[in-house]
Amino acid sequence: MLDCIFCKILKNQIPSKKIFEDEDFLAFHDIHPIARIHFLIIPKLHVDSLVQCTHVHQAMLGRMLLLGAELASQQGMNDGFRTMINTGHGGGQEVFHLHVHVFGGETVIPKL
Ligand code: 5GP
Ligand code: ZN
Repeated sequence: MLDCIFCKILKNQIPSKKIFEDEDFLAFHDIHPIARIHFLIIPKLHVDSLVQCTHVHQAMLGRMLLLGAELASQQGMNDGFRTMINTGHGGGQEVFHLHVHVFGGETVIPKL
């Protein structure tokens, strides 16, 4: 996806503070953190959002969540953390490359 910011981050065309990379995922700190620790996990395969996912993406979605928990621990969020997937304009999504927010510590988002 030529105009996708996160695809550009994947290709190192835009710098990011990476915390994890393997053949399927990249995790990096959010440029505008909403909590003391706030990072994003993206699949290397471009998918616009959760609503575009099908059964083909099922294993990837599960692994992305498990990776979130693993990286949250690695980042020192031993007291717990929150995960968020914004989907579509109505869901507050701004970057249309599927991603999971993982954040912990004091946050500007009220508890639901
Ligand atoms: P969304 O609202 O789409 O769920 O969240 C997109 C997130 O990506 C936002 O929290 C925003 O701060 C973050 N973001 C947007 N552009 C960049 C960028 O170039 N680098 C990094 N590290 N984060 C970005
Ligand atoms: Zn992309």
